[in-house]
Amino acid sequence: AAQAREKQASLTDLLEKAGDAYRKQLSQSPKAIAYLKGRGVSGITAKRFGLGYAPEGWRSLASIFPAYDDAKLVECGLVIESDDGEGKRYDRFRDRVMFPIRNIKGECIGFGGRVFGDEKPKYLNSPETPVFHKGRELYGLFEARTAIREHGYVLVTEGYMDVVALAQLGFPNAVATLGTACTPDHVHKLFRFTDTVVFSFDGDAAGRRAARKALDGALPYASDTRSIKFLFLPAEHDPDSFVREYGADAFARHVHDATPLSRFLLEAASELCDLGQAEGRARMSSNARPLWNLLPDGALKRQLLGEIADKAQLPA
Ligand code: ATP
Ligand code: MN
Ligand code: MN
Ligand code: MN
Repeated sequence: AAQAREKQASLTDLLEKAGDAYRKQLSQSPKAIAYLKGRGVSGITAKRFGLGYAPEGWRSLASIFPAYDDAKLVECGLVIESDDGEGKRYDRFRDRVMFPIRNIKGECIGFGGRVFGDEKPKYLNSPETPVFHKGRELYGLFEARTAIREHGYVLVTEGYMDVVALAQLGFPNAVATLGTACTPDHVHKLFRFTDTVVFSFDGDAAGRRAARKALDGALPYASDTRSIKFLFLPAEHDPDSFVREYGADAFARHVHDATPLSRFLLEAASELCDLGQAEGRARMSSNARPLWNLLPDGALKRQLLGEIADKAQLPA
C-alpha cells in the first residue's frame, strides 16, 4: 500500500510539472490567451483553475522531461506510445487549451484539453490511470470545495467551461462530470460537502439524457435530510452560454426554481404515458416502481408511494 501511494505520488508529480509548463506556455501564447478572452475568461479565473496551453509539436514535453522515454509518462497519460510495433512516443495533448483536473487533496490527476476550433474530438481527456478515475472524480471540486460549504449547495454541470464561467459570474460552487454520466460514486462524494445537489446539464437532448441518468445515480442518496434538484435550461443553452447571455440573477432564478427529485421522478415515469387512460396510468406506475425502489427507506419514500398511487388513481 505504501508502495502504491509512492507510485501515485510520482505520477501526480509528473502531471503537476506538466501543468506548470502548460501554464507558462499559456502566458506566452497570444492565440490561447485570445481564445480564453473571447470566451469571456478573465486572467483571475484562468489562474483560479490553473488553465494552460499545450503547444503544437509532437514532443513538446521533452523539454521539461529530459527522460521522455520514462514509462511513467505513458502511465500518467501525458505521453502516448504508438502501437505500430516501433513504440514511438508523442505528447497526448497538442495545441489545446488545458484544464488541469485535481483530486480533493489538490493533486493534479489529469487534464482536459480543448481544441480552438470545431475539430474533433473537441475535448480530449486523460485516460484512466492509477490516479485518474472518471467515474469518481469531478472537475472543479477542489477549487469549489469551500464555496460549496458557504453557498450550501453544489451545482453539477457537464462541462469544463460551465464550471469556469459559473465561477467567474458568481457561482464558484460548481463542478462537472468528466464527459461521463453522473455516477452514484459522484453523488456520494458530493454529499460529503453539502446536503443539497443541483444538477444543471445542457438544455439539449444529451443534457436531458444526462439528467435522467443522474436521477438513477442520485436516488439511492435521496434521504430525508438531503435535497436533490434538477435545473433545466432552454434547449439551446448550457450553463456557460446561459449565464453569459442572461446573467447571474437569471441563473439564480433557475437554481431557485429547479425541479425537486420527487417531481422529476414522477415526470420521468410519466413520459410517453397517457394519464387520461387506465393503460397509461398503469404504465406510469410500472415505470415509477424501479425508480422508487432505489430510494432509501424513509419519509420521502413513503410520501412518493402515495403520490405515485394518486397519479395512477390507485388506492395507496
Ligand atoms: P464548449 O463550450 O467548450 O464548446 P461544452 O463543455 O459545452 O464545450 P459539450 O459538447 O456540451 O461541450 O460537452 C460537455 C462535456 O463533455 C465537455 O466539457 C467535456 O468534458 C465532455 N466532452 C465533450 N466532447 C467530448 C469528446 N469528444 N471527448 C471526451 N469528452 C468530451
Ligand atoms: Mn452538450
Ligand atoms: Mn459549452
Ligand atoms: Mn455544453
